[in-house]
Amino acid sequence: MPELPEVEYAANRLRQWMLGRLVLRAKAEPTRLLRGQPARRFSQALTGRRLERVERRGKYLLLFFDGNAGLLAHLGMTGKLVRRPTGVAEPFSHARFELEDGFTVHFRDPRKFGRLSAEPADRLFLLPEIAALGPDALLEPPTAESLGERLSRTARPVKVALMDQSVLAGLGNIHAAEALFRARIDPRLRADRLSEEQRRRLAQAIGETIALGLANDEEEEITYVEEGAPNPFLVYGKAGEACPRCGQRLASLTQGGRTTHFCPHCQR
Ligand SMILES: [Zn+2]
Repeated sequence: MPELPEVEYAANRLRQWMLGRLVLRAKAEPTRLLRGQPARRFSQALTGRRLERVERRGKYLLLFFDGNAGLLAHLGMTGKLVRRPTGVAEPFSHARFELEDGFTVHFRDPRKFGRLSAEPADRLFLLPEIAALGPDALLEPPTAESLGERLSRTARPVKVALMDQSVLAGLGNIHAAEALFRARIDPRLRADRLSEEQRRRLAQAIGETIALGLANDEEEEITYVEEGAPNPFLVYGKAGEACPRCGQRLASLTQGGRTTHFCPHCQR
């Protein structure tokens, strides 16, 4: 499932594939990705434009085109961007940009939990979902102080608080669990009860887990773990296996409707 590193990867591919190139034709299918916007708004706003700039904030992509055209995109659970020669059909393509260079960039999303919203470029940072984001975990890496200050405002379990995009933007279920494992913190611990030492370890661990996720940025096309890519994580998806640190059995529990993987022995 796309989290910060995968969305950063998507932003880099968009820059590589589309910056400065003319969009001969933009087209979206009328799906729930558009959240009620008419599909023609997408094509009318973006056909004939050139992409000038791509930003990522948390798990959102912000595309700035010339003529004050813009697009807010979210990959949801299964969304990804792929590039194909124009004319080659792409399964689960719900929107696409046909470019002047003979390639088409598709927004592919089998489960359709993603989002595409055509907006004026100068409105993108003002959209409520962007304005509500906390500091971006990559652009403004958390420190013990900044993270501790934000976590001290909530009594929720620390794992749930880390996934709250208004606390820290970019972490999801996988990277929150990975960071807590690296920091040896029980995911059930109340966020406002972390010690100074735990805050320090957690801030460092978040940086490490994101850096690891960014390491695959050379590939032409990303494959998510859920799609069968090798699992590079320490605890995610590994309940029942041996803990890579202490050798005891990893466990899982449900928090905020999501499965948390952790080691009950060395995350205390
Ligand atoms: Zn362990």
